[in-house]
Amino acid sequence: MTDAAAELHDPRFVAAYKLIGRTGARTVQVRYSEGDDPAEDKLVWMAVVEYADGVWDVAAGRDPLQAIFRMCDTLVDGGMCAACGRPTGFDPVTPLDDPNLP
Ligand SMILES: [Zn+2]
Repeated sequence: MTDAAAELHDPRFVAAYKLIGRTGARTVQVRYSEGDDPAEDKLVWMAVVEYADGVWDVAAGRDPLQAIFRMCDTLVDGGMCAACGRPTGFDPVTPLDDPNLP
């Protein structure tokens, strides 16, 4: 199992959390669910997002970072920027100094 407390302070987690806020989300929760068998060491992490109009969504992962990255992918990738109309994308892997970036 990963160290969930450390992941919650990972700068990538903080950035993803802020990115979801930029989509207009009213609340963002990251929580977990245990399996029915307490001996089984498999937590399912969930990122739950809710908007002011009551619309909400959930993304799951094996750790907090995976859950919130999947939520960013759902909310941002393939969308459109409300400010400038340009396409939006989410890529948690490509470093900012990648020479292939525009
Ligand atoms: Zn824009």
